[in-house]
Parts: sequence; C-alpha cells; structure tokens
Amino acid sequence: MTMPAPPASVPPADRMPLRRLAVIGAGPRGIAVIERLGAASRTEAWRGAVEVHLIDPHVDRGGAVWRTNQSRALVMNTATCQTTMYPDASCAPVLPVEGAQTLAEFLGREENGGYGPADIAPRAEHGRYLLTVLAQAEAAADPSRLRIVRRAAEARDVTGPLDGPQRVLLDDGEVLEVDAVVLALGHLATAPSPRSRRIAEAAERLGLLHVPSANPLEVDDTALLGRERVAVQGMGLNFYDAVGMLCEAAGGRFLEDPSTPSGLRYLPGGAEPQLLVGSRTGVVYRPKPDLRPHLPAPYEPTVLTDGMVESLAARPGGLDHERDVLPLMVAELTGAMARAGFDALADEEAILRLLFPLGRRARALPDAHARTRAVLREAIAAASAPDPAWTLAFRVLSALRIRVNELVDRGAYTSVSFLRDIDGFLKNAFASWASGPPVRRAREALALEEAGLLVFAGPAMSIEVDESARRFAVRAGDGPAVLCDGVLEAHLPGVDLPRFTSPLVRAWRERGEVRAALLPDRHGDEPVATGSIDVADDGTLIGTDGEAFARRILLGIPVSTAQPGSAITAEPGTAPQLLRRAERAAIDLARHAGALPRTSGEELVPWAMQIVVLRDKKALAADVDVAEAGARAVVALLDDERSALGGPWHDALARWVEGGRIRKIVRRADGKRWRDVQELEGVTVEVPFGAAVAGPAAVRALPPGPVRPLPHALDKLQVGGTTFVHEGESRTEDAPVTVEVSPLIEITSGKLVAQVAHAAQRAYDLMDAETRAAWRAQGFAVRVERADETTWARGGRPVSIVDAGYTELGGPTETTRARW
Ligand SMILES: Cc1cc2nc3c(=O)[nH]c(=O)nc-3n(C[C@H](O)[C@H](O)[C@H](O)COP(=O)(O)OP(=O)(O)OC[C@H]3O[C@@H](n4cnc5c(N)ncnc54)[C@H](O)[C@@H]3O)c2cc1C
Repeated sequence: MTMPAPPASVPPADRMPLRRLAVIGAGPRGIAVIERLGAASRTEAWRGAVEVHLIDPHVDRGGAVWRTNQSRALVMNTATCQTTMYPDASCAPVLPVEGAQTLAEFLGREENGGYGPADIAPRAEHGRYLLTVLAQAEAAADPSRLRIVRRAAEARDVTGPLDGPQRVLLDDGEVLEVDAVVLALGHLATAPSPRSRRIAEAAERLGLLHVPSANPLEVDDTALLGRERVAVQGMGLNFYDAVGMLCEAAGGRFLEDPSTPSGLRYLPGGAEPQLLVGSRTGVVYRPKPDLRPHLPAPYEPTVLTDGMVESLAARPGGLDHERDVLPLMVAELTGAMARAGFDALADEEAILRLLFPLGRRARALPDAHARTRAVLREAIAAASAPDPAWTLAFRVLSALRIRVNELVDRGAYTSVSFLRDIDGFLKNAFASWASGPPVRRAREALALEEAGLLVFAGPAMSIEVDESARRFAVRAGDGPAVLCDGVLEAHLPGVDLPRFTSPLVRAWRERGEVRAALLPDRHGDEPVATGSIDVADDGTLIGTDGEAFARRILLGIPVSTAQPGSAITAEPGTAPQLLRRAERAAIDLARHAGALPRTSGEELVPWAMQIVVLRDKKALAADVDVAEAGARAVVALLDDERSALGGPWHDALARWVEGGRIRKIVRRADGKRWRDVQELEGVTVEVPFGAAVAGPAAVRALPPGPVRPLPHALDKLQVGGTTFVHEGESRTEDAPVTVEVSPLIEITSGKLVAQVAHAAQRAYDLMDAETRAAWRAQGFAVRVERADETTWARGGRPVSIVDAGYTELGGPTETTRARW
C-alpha cells in the first residue's frame, strides 16, 4: 500500500489554471508521448490541470502508416513480438508503467486474431493496437490532472518565441495557444527530385504512367492496370507492397503449387503489366526466416561487444567503416558460424558472398535477372524451412545493426565514411536482411516472375525517355534499353528538408526557423549537410541563426541525423530510442506546462521509506501490536547513529523529508522473504507480548530511497491488502508517546502502520531533547489507542496527521494524532 505523505501546500488541482500542450502526429511516437504524459500525470510530483491536444488527420485511425482502414494485403515486416508501446526495464523509465501490453500480447488474444509472437500481422492490426494504447491512456487519465483531446486535423504552422507560448494553426482555421509542442511527423511528403520531375513531365507529355515515391497506401495501384510494362525502381519493402497491391487491384489469385520454386502459381486477373524491377544497388530484400512459433533470443556479440563499441567510439580521428568495423563484423559472423558448426560459412569469402551476392559495389550485370532470381529462390528456401545457418546470420546481422547504429548515434564515424559506407550502402544492406518481407510476400513476387510478369533489371538501373518510341527506355548500366510505358518509384521519399512539402515545415523554412543538420565534424573532417532537420540533443528545433526553440520538440524520422534508427520500431528489451525519447519529451512538455518541477528526471521517482511487516499466517499478530512495532522501528531508525550527520543514512533521510513529504510504503513478508529482508540495512523492532490474543509482531524499517528500482528482496514483497487481527486493545503501559487513531475511518492494517508511524515521527521531531531522551530510554515505546468519537471531536493534540486520500480514503482525511 502506498502512503502519500500529508499534502504539501499547493492549491488543489481544480483551482490551478488550465495549461495546454500539443502533440502533432498520432503515429507510434506521438501516442507514446501521450502515454508517458499520462504516466507523469499519475505521479505525486504532478501539479495542476493540463489539456493535451493530439493532432493528426489520422488520429482516430492509428496514424498515417498504420491506419486501421487500409488493405489487409499490406502487412508488417516485423513480427508481433518485436513491437511494444510501453517501456520495459531496458528503457530504465523514470515514470511509472501501468497496464503495459506488447503488440504480441494484444494480438495474441483470441478476440484480436490470436496471432503468435513470430507471426506477421497486417499493418491495420498494428493500428488497432496503437488506438488501444491511446484509449487506455485516455481512460486512465484523471481529468482534473490531464485531459487528452483528439484533433483530426493537420497542423499548418507552429509559431512563437524561442522560449514562450506557441501557437498551433490547424487546417480548420483554429489556433491553439499552447505552452509547448512535440512534433512526431514521420515520413513527410517531398517534392519530386529533378530526375523524378523529368520522368513526370515526360509521362504527362507522352501519355505514360508515373507513380512518384510515396507511402504505398497513397498509391493508386489500379493506375498500373492495362499498362504493358512498368519499370519499378526499388527492390525493398515498397516493391513487395506493390506486388501485393497490384495483384489485389488486378483480381489475381495465388494458388499453392509445390511443383514451382515459389510454391505458388499466379492466376492473373488479366490487366497486370509486366514489372521490370531494379535499383541502384540491385539488392533484393530477402525474406525474414519464418521462425514461428517463437523468435530465438537475440544474438549476443562476442567481437563487436559493448566494450568494443565503447573503445571504437573513443578512437581519435573517427572510424572508417571498411577499415575499422567491417573486419570486426566479418569476424563476428565467421566466428558465430564456426562455433555453431556451420563450417561452409565460417570463412570471410563465404560470408561476403552470402551478404553481397551481387558484389560489394553496384555495377550492372549481364545476367542480372537470373542471378537475382537465384538469390531470391535461395532466400525463400532458406527462410521457409528455415535453414539454421541463415537464421544465425539473420540474428547476428540484427545484433550488428544495433551496434553500428550505436556507433552512428555516438558520432564515431568520419563524415566521409558515414556517407559512403553507412548511409550509401550498409543501411540498405542491413535492411535487405533484417527488414525483409514475410516469406509469403517474397514467394508471391517469385510467383509473378514464374508467370512472366516480373523481370529483374538488377543494379545500376537508369531511366531515360525515348522520344521516338514514346516510351521510357530502361537500362541497367550500359546494357540494352527495355521500353516501358510506366514508372513506379517503389521507395519512400527521402528525408530532405528543402524538398519537404509539408505546409508546416515550409512555413518554418520561409521564416528561417528551421535548418538542415550537419553531420558533426568531430573528427576534423569538413561538416557535411544532410536533409535532416537540425535539432539539439533534447529534440528542440534549431533555427537558421543557431538558436533553439525550447518549446518545439521534434522526434523521429525528420530529425534522423540527430536521432538515428528512427524508422525502427520499439522492440521489447532493446532500450528502444522511440520510447526513451518519448518519455523525455513527455517530461519536458509537462515541465513547460508547469505540471512537473524543473528538476532532473531522476528526481521524478518519488522517495519513500520502506517498512516491512512480518505476516506469519500461522500466528497472525494484532494490528495495534504491528502498528506499535512499526512506529518504534521508524523512530529508532531516525534516532540511530547511522542517521546522524556524517552517518551513512543521513543524506537519504534529509532528502526524503525535504519539502515535508514523508512517504512510507508498507510491505509484508514471512518465512525466507522475511529473513532476506533482515539482510538489508535497517532497524527491526519486535513486540513479543501479543501472544495471548495473537502472534508476535515484528517490523523492519529501512532507510528511505527511490521507489524504483528496489533491491530484489523488497521488490517482490506485496504492498496491498495487508491485514492483521483487528481486535484487542494495546497492552503497552507507560509509553511516553500515545498515538490516537481516528474512529471515523476504516483502513487496512498496512495503512494503519504508516499513519501511526507518521504520527510517531512527527512527535519525535517536535518534542524537546529531554522528552526525547526519556523516550529513547524506553525503547521508543508507543501506545496506540482507537479514540472514541467524543475524545476525537475535542482535538487539541500537538501532532495531527492528514492523509492526502489518494489510496484508501476518498480525499484529505485526518487519520492519527500523537500526544506525549
Ligand atoms: C509503409 C511503411 C511500412 C512500415 N512498416 C514497418 C513495420 O512493419 N515494422 C516497423 O517496425 N516499422 C515499419 N515502418 C517504419 C515506421 O516508420 C515506424 O515503425 C513508425 O511508424 C514511426 O513512427 P512515427 O510516429 O515516428 O511516425 P509515423 O508513424 O509516420 O506517424 C507520423 C504521423 O504524423 C502525422 N503528421 C505529419 N505531419 C502532420 C501535420 N502537419 N499535422 C498533423 N499530423 C501530421 C501523420 O499523419 C502520421 O500519422 C514502416 C514505415 C512505412 C512508411
């Protein structure tokens, strides 16, 4: 049971002015910020009433990517167990976490589809999960502290001073005045690149088809129907999405057919064009191994260990990936293969062939179609079975990706190496392994190939216009041109500030309130501009003059230079940046609204004195005895020489009582657990003479500390519902201090212990030195009395404890008094 201390002198919530905040973007990040804000509003540190507006045209649909009303042909590329919206211990959250459920737990329930942890679900299901998290945050919010308001609108502008209230202009014309705003905008629409514009102009002029890069949801796939041959630029997830959506739009069907390499046969709808598929690198994303029912534990590196990452990050002059990191990655992979007995893959050459089957650098290949098809066939066979060596490669690469992201995050690479090796190559290579489609979707792509509807152009694909043929001329390198009557740009728009078409970002650009981030020049190399928006470490927007807008906090993909790995989901157990940053942003928002104190995050974890009571079911003590033992243990601890100035408990006690809050948490233990608690520092007091009516009472009080994390011996002890024998009077005679309990309340024995201890503690603080010495001489004996109503009505005791009423009592209530 949690014992809030007597209320501090702040006005009640309903008399504080209402403050307002905004979160723009209701995808995973925006909703995570709302969830964390809700958690903050349930802490004791929270003050006042706040209204937060969650703004997104798709706010009731789970955001743009995950909207619940999209085709079920659009599926996730991560397994259900790889996503959560609630921080776990790996995030070391400073705010409480309640009602947590991962995507796997949510979708695993029969009524939600009964998906297994390694299953791949439609994106719409993830959208339903996000909406459930939001609804749960709304339901848990106490409206006198936090009101969550959904706004189905686009934010067109955010204006305001560097450090003052902001104004959010909505597309319905309304202007919201807010104390601060978080912007989690995800992938933003961009204007076409000059190359894309040329293709668009030619398409317009010649009556050809051009589908620019976009979220696959925004693409009208019916436009492809009836075309002869469409060039598809991109071999990643958008390409696979296009396969699914095209077949759905055409009304085609896939039948199981074990005689084909794909295991499927495609029955065309009739209007499908042939797809000519290629990209700059020519790397086709390989399906993830089908690891159902359970994904194996993450691989723990033995070469690129945390220690190695640490020493690489500290290397002067910066890292060159090819020279400094790639050999370690190869050693990690070959070592893992050797240890697992996969000797064929235990040497460098074999590993590099597996990773880069078309070579390490993009170049056109004469037999690109056959080679890419072979890669895909091999990958499908290995992923379907699944092949244990491939599964190991997949696990090692997933772990290496996290380590490389960490190096990027810490600015360890030189700019040149980052741009050339990571951004220009490895990011895609990793994604082609670790972010591949589900096996089924890869088999569908291969089935289209088998039906003659898909041809691989391979690496170095280029698109020109053949004016005489009135067609696009598509080539790989210098190879022969293949004529196409359409182009589908199957990739997401890049992160490129000058090309963002979002009215909000455009407005900032026009006023000089946004600039492009530079890659840090930590290693003496020339700073390099990126397309990412420049923000400070805490996400605050930086304007062209280098000054930060303290109340505009940006999260995620548009600021991916400062927050690398932004497109990766929040995976349980991996300290995901999405959730860590969401909590920090929520705390910053709350501080701007004056709802949380402007102290460090750690101080938001309340401090409490833990009190453990022995509860032996075979010899249950009387509650007055337990309360007396508790009061004596607390006072004995306060009086202990270890609590004196210079003693080991002194600072913790001083911090705990600061501001008048003396929170106590009462837990119960018996048997081994009780014995384990005796190993923790503290003071135990026993009251043995209860045996006539009940068992003996024993209580251990511990020096105060943060309520999270707790020593294991304490953490597992129950708090709620602690009851003892509620009969019989105190048998303590001649105690110097008497604590009276209100006759007007009904409380559990656990709460009684805390309230009596509060009163005894205040008595100890207030009495003069002589009385205190006399009390000490009697072992701080306390008599607990249940006052009758007449005595209680008289009042007039030197100590009166008023409980804030957050737990068992329905509002501020006087519970105990002390006299001496
Ligand atoms: C097609 C696609 C498929 C993906 N599949 C996966 C997957 O399977 N697994 C995975 O882990 N990751 C996947 N991702 C990565 C994905 O980007 C992240 O998992 C995650 O959605 C990022 O969350 P976010 O909240 O930062 O951005 P988003 O989810 O993109 O949300 C941003 C929100 O901001 C809103 N918004 C933007 N501008 C404004 C404005 N001016 N006013 C109001 N609202 C605005 C948008 O409408 C949108 O809802 C996928 C991404 C895409 C694009």
